[in-house]
Amino acid sequence: MSTPEYDNDNIFAKILRGEIPCFKVYEDDHVLAFMDIVPRGMGHALVIPKEPCRNMLDASPEAVAHVHKIAQKIALAAIKAFNADGITIQQFSEDASGQKVYHYHVHVVPRHEGKKFGPANVMGDMDAIKANGEKLVEALE
Ligand code: 5GP
Repeated sequence: MSTPEYDNDNIFAKILRGEIPCFKVYEDDHVLAFMDIVPRGMGHALVIPKEPCRNMLDASPEAVAHVHKIAQKIALAAIKAFNADGITIQQFSEDASGQKVYHYHVHVVPRHEGKKFGPANVMGDMDAIKANGEKLVEALE
């Protein structure tokens, strides 16, 4: 399988360029983390590298390492912010895996005992997502 070209107009590239808003929770020179607008669990966040890459298959090893380092940081903050019992990390690479947005991203989904994953097609309440983003930021400080 050969990896197709990176598309500069994917939605996360637009978020990185500030053309589309997001509820940002963390940023440094190499990554941005923000809230998913279709949360599968309370406080579902995404971590993306700033370098242009479709997914884990064409990302630099440095980007993969840094994205995961920050995913761990977000996960620890989420445990604190949402009193979570666990964290599910998801990463999809290419169509066959279920990838929808073609800029590399890692999902950080806080989990609570007995609570199933939320639906994949239901837009979250923006006020609640914003409030959860603020809780995450506070826990990261
Ligand atoms: P995946 O490619 O990992 O299957 O799914 C892409 C993820 O990006 C989904 O969880 C979806 O809810 C999220 N997503 C899609 N468009 C946007 C957007 O415009 N803003 C944010 N914050 N998340 C998005």
